[in-house]
Amino acid sequence: MAAQTLTLIREHREHPDGIELFNAKCERRGFVEPKRVNGRLVLEDLWIMQGSLCDLRCTHCYTASSPGNNRLQQITLDELRPHLDDAARFGVEKIYFTGGEVFVNEDVLRGREQRNEEFLKSLSYALEIAPVEILTNARRHIRNHFDALRELRARHGDRLRLRITLESPRAAEHDAIRGKSTFAQTMETIAQLAAIGFVPIITAERSFLSEQTEERIREAYEVLFREQGIRIEVNLIENVMEMGHQLVQLARQGRQPKPEVFITTSCFAILNKPTESLMCHHSRCIQKIDGELRYYPCPVIYDDPRFELGRTLEDSFRRVYIAHKNCYDYCMKGRGATCRTRPL
Ligand code: SF4
Ligand code: SF4
Repeated sequence: MAAQTLTLIREHREHPDGIELFNAKCERRGFVEPKRVNGRLVLEDLWIMQGSLCDLRCTHCYTASSPGNNRLQQITLDELRPHLDDAARFGVEKIYFTGGEVFVNEDVLRGREQRNEEFLKSLSYALEIAPVEILTNARRHIRNHFDALRELRARHGDRLRLRITLESPRAAEHDAIRGKSTFAQTMETIAQLAAIGFVPIITAERSFLSEQTEERIREAYEVLFREQGIRIEVNLIENVMEMGHQLVQLARQGRQPKPEVFITTSCFAILNKPTESLMCHHSRCIQKIDGELRYYPCPVIYDDPRFELGRTLEDSFRRVYIAHKNCYDYCMKGRGATCRTRPL
């Protein structure tokens, strides 16, 4: 027992980021190793967080994005290019751009420019490497980018997809989260994108929907577009997180966030979440903070130095300890969520 205790203490001390590796019962913290195929490290999904600026201020936005939040900074193509090249070397299968709203930057938001040219350059480069999916609120600013999107679609076809959140098939429920008239604006944009040839991936979060089954959810969204002959796919996010604006709301209500759940090595089997199913196994996420590009295990953890994995993709292929509040709240709880698109 003394030897075992000594080993535990040594391991605890060895962890560089100060994450508790054992709980009070001396159960070991769960962890996930990066994916290997035939011994070689591989990357399936690369996530690029293109800044936390957004023209909206949705009540539950987990990055607390808004017109005034520049904590996650815009990434230029010159900064991104070597990382995209690295991703290609490790066999990346899909590149996701998310934010904030990727079609805005400071100049676009303040009306000084119409288009986020730097993002368009990164998008073009990324498309030469792997299929790309853009997460967008598809409200207003994307419309100034239609010419560029049309050209990219002509060149790459379905290699470029757009994922658009409609919080509910009912305007009032969507607007209660995203803001007045946003449902109508986004619906209009979806019709315009469909006219260009895109098949938008409509995304919703299960906990905001009254429809109980996946069939009902898909049907409710498809009905919205059927009359106009617009083809869509539906993607469902299983869990929402207490972060960003939600934490602010909780504080206003005098409530505390729920405490973090300690995930042990046994939890993966108990909760039926194989480590291979988690994003930190097959994905990495780039974020620019304080002028530096940093790797994180996934897009649901951001701006938290305990979870930074390094400044290069190669460095980022490290064991990830399942120690963030979102690990349970988002990935492990219930059916378990992923940011990956999985159409219903
Ligand atoms: S949820 Fe999306 S659209 Fe809403 S504030 Fe956050 S980044 Fe912007
Ligand atoms: S939030 Fe999910 S994907 Fe990210 S590190 Fe935790 S378990 Fe892994």
